Amino acid sequence: MQLCERKGLNLTPIRRRILEIVWRAHEPIGAYEILAELAKEREKAAPPTVYRALEFLMDAGLVHRIDSLNAFLGCMEPGHAHVAQFLVCRQCQRVAEIDDPAINRVLAEQSRAKGFRIEPTSLEIKGLCSDCSSRT
Ligand SMILES: [Zn+2]
Ligand SMILES: [Zn+2]
Repeated sequence: MQLCERKGLNLTPIRRRILEIVWRAHEPIGAYEILAELAKEREKAAPPTVYRALEFLMDAGLVHRIDSLNAFLGCMEPGHAHVAQFLVCRQCQRVAEIDDPAINRVLAEQSRAKGFRIEPTSLEIKGLCSDCSSRT
């Protein structure tokens, strides 16, 4: 929250509330779970409002979207724009974030060599987290 004030972000009450919900979850949370959470409170929100708020929070680099899970995750390194890599556990669906610019650099170089101009893309890498792999 202090971060947002420092960046001069315009956090409306609903954006702030959604950010809290996403950050509190510590794991990917779907838009409908966010809506359900909001419905418990006075601040009921319509789906478009929630999507717009999530859009804003993603642009601000506070929240990431995990496409393969269709869910949102609070950024672990907010405060700088970045395209992250995510380790997605296929069993418990927990996600760990890697933020390594070297990976993006290699990708950019390799793509350029093929004349392909890449757009900012998050990588989602499937596997088993340490808890799940120790259980098998
Ligand atoms: Zn991040
Ligand atoms: Zn796991």
